[in-house]
Amino acid sequence: MNYKIALIRGDGIGPEVVNEAVGVLDAAAEKFGHSIEYVDVLLGGCATDAVGKSYPDGTAEKCRACDAILLGAVGGPKWGPDKPADQRPETALLALRKDLELYANLRPATLRPAMADSSPLRRETAEKGIDLMMVRELTGGIYFGKRDKYQTEDRGVECTDLMAYSEKEIERIGRRAFELARLRRGKVSSVDKANVLETSRLWREVMHRLAKEYPDVQYEDVLVDNCAMQIVRDPGQFDVVVTENMFGDILSDEASMVTGSIGLLPSASIGDTAPGLYEPIHGSAPDIAGQDKANPMATILSAAMMFRYSFQRREEADAIEQAVDAVLAEGWRTADIAKPGEKVVGTKEMGRLIREKLAAL
Ligand code: NAD
Repeated sequence: MNYKIALIRGDGIGPEVVNEAVGVLDAAAEKFGHSIEYVDVLLGGCATDAVGKSYPDGTAEKCRACDAILLGAVGGPKWGPDKPADQRPETALLALRKDLELYANLRPATLRPAMADSSPLRRETAEKGIDLMMVRELTGGIYFGKRDKYQTEDRGVECTDLMAYSEKEIERIGRRAFELARLRRGKVSSVDKANVLETSRLWREVMHRLAKEYPDVQYEDVLVDNCAMQIVRDPGQFDVVVTENMFGDILSDEASMVTGSIGLLPSASIGDTAPGLYEPIHGSAPDIAGQDKANPMATILSAAMMFRYSFQRREEADAIEQAVDAVLAEGWRTADIAKPGEKVVGTKEMGRLIREKLAAL
């Protein structure tokens, strides 16, 4: 197959980790007989520096012309909150996700076998394994609702943020979750606050309707506060966890932490028609940028997700993940995940080791 991939290298360690992921994509293409064409897309602080805006005109169109998008990370102190909105890197990311209607955020929280010791959870809990997929609604809810700030007569300033969800929005993310569960261990946990929120009661109603359409998938409702507890008590019970935007924002970070390292966690944002966006969950790490210290594994594993979810190529995705696991099992580490006495390598060497393993599989 021929694939066309948009590369958003971004800021800080973004270009370094994308370089290694491209190396692994090329190695996978060679191994499995594909060809890949890359299109560089400027977005983030580097775009502000080059053309005065973090989200240059035509960015969405350039991305739409590709089969998938790989992003390193954007942001940094140089383009802080004092800058006008159109020069801030975060604005660009939100705009791209919105323009491409990437409404489903997939964040696997996987405790890789060789990293079992890194989990902050008790050994007997971690040993049961963690392999959950957080599916977060990304374009609705309170982050996109109407906001207000006004002066009251007797209570000082008051603010409101509106949380709104439609049946259509809930149904499309719900379907994603059920379809994903079919590709995994066949269980969906839907997280809401239906004992308090009207949006959650609608969420639950729609999910129950969908559950009837997927009788082969085991379904449960979980209240968000209970879910937060269960993720640290027994994360192994979860397969696919689906939830609205703000709950998902918080729970996905919690789920990431129990796996022990942000340098290892990939993510995907997908919609119905536009190309999916694949990126590590970490930021641009300005503190280590340009020093060959960044862990490229999260971006490499994002490339594996690209093969699995955008290209429907499971074999390639499995091979990349196996190569990463094999390198970890041999004890190779970047500084962020190394314990005293372990073999520490830089970004480039880690990329090379993974490519070498992939070729040899
Ligand atoms: P961060 O994830 O960039 O860094 C947090 C800590 O983790 C730092 O100590 C960093 O050195 C370390 N770290 C992160 N990724 C690493 C990797 N791959 N290898 C080794 N160590 C790694 O988070 P932050 O410091 O809060 O944010 C820095 C900048 O990144 C900010 O401008 C923020 O807005 C931006 N950001 C961007 C994205 C994105 O592009 N999607 C996401 C989060 C933060």
